[in-house]
Amino acid sequence: VAKRLEKFKTTIFTQMSSLAIKHGAINLGQGFPNFDGPDFVKEAAIQAIRDGNNQYARGYGVPDLNSAVAHRFKKDSGLTVDPEKEVTVTSGCTEAIAATILGLINPGDEVIVFAPFYDSYEATLSMAGANIKCVTLKPPNFAVPIDELKSLVSKNTRAILMNTPHNPTGKMFTRQELDEIASLCIENDVLVFSDEVYDKLAFEMDHISIASLPGMYERTVTLNSLGKTFSLTGWKIGWAIAPPHLTWGVRQAHSYLTFATSTPMQYAAAAALRAPDSYYEELRRDYNSKKNILVEGLKSVGFTVYPSSGTYFVVVDHTKFGMENDVAFCEYLIKEVGVVAIPTSVFYLNPEEGKNLVRFTFCKDEGTLISAVERMKEKL
Ligand code: GLN
Repeated sequence: VAKRLEKFKTTIFTQMSSLAIKHGAINLGQGFPNFDGPDFVKEAAIQAIRDGNNQYARGYGVPDLNSAVAHRFKKDSGLTVDPEKEVTVTSGCTEAIAATILGLINPGDEVIVFAPFYDSYEATLSMAGANIKCVTLKPPNFAVPIDELKSLVSKNTRAILMNTPHNPTGKMFTRQELDEIASLCIENDVLVFSDEVYDKLAFEMDHISIASLPGMYERTVTLNSLGKTFSLTGWKIGWAIAPPHLTWGVRQAHSYLTFATSTPMQYAAAAALRAPDSYYEELRRDYNSKKNILVEGLKSVGFTVYPSSGTYFVVVDHTKFGMENDVAFCEYLIKEVGVVAIPTSVFYLNPEEGKNLVRFTFCKDEGTLISAVERMKEKL
């Protein structure tokens, strides 16, 4: 393997999902729903295939999807964007993140991330040769330590890569935090890459796109996808929204990474994004009741559960069960209890910082969540 990837192992999600299968454990690890996406979206995909939409799509997206993305973004953030010049469709948000980083970051540029962070960030920043700087969000509130963030910004800082609602903690960046980040970026001419794939799973407060703050659109790439909102994580349809001068970089990288994204699935994604508001309300309601089942369940097992405002994840402190660290705890949980969680230490530059925390997901049917809680109550 190339030096730039030497330090990375098999992703924790792949590791944990294969252990789940091996041990017949209930998988509350990798974030994928164990229920299917809506029929009208599946039907739209089948129809698109039948209609013969099966050759390469336009590189930056099927026109109908670019428009649907722009339309949805207007509804969500209030921003009017040009679907032809400011929206790029990619193969999942993970590709959008990679295209953004590879298209806009030069070797040696400093990029600031917030730990714990989604594992692809560090790997992709390494591929780009970025110099990674990290601020840690700490329990119980995972608030942004603004002074520490300020002290990391230098003349070499090119971008801040952020994620709200935040995987794995469920933290949502508050208006005040976003304002502070925005001023810092404007003063120091720093870009923001904002991963918002869980924006529709916001329970305790409204999601805010940092691009919508004054002076921010021109320096922000907003990243999103279909997978979480429509319970179709295997479709891998994502997108990047950015002003033309940033879109140019994203598209150049995207052109030579994947060139284009699955054509029929893009037609179906466009149909999905035109779902009525009631679809989004129901999604949030459903997930809120799943969240309550898991959170109450985990509390009754005895975990310290940190408040999660968004995403379909919740982070707990496992230390009272006496295991050495998060990895040891998760191994015990799989082998002796029959439940899979994700150890969070892989989401930190310094793994020590995550050793007390593990992540559970509640994107599973209620019966599965209840069984997992019962197993833990019985055997932990
Ligand atoms: N985003 C999902 C999670 O955090 C799954 C990611 C993956 O499997 N690579 O669990």
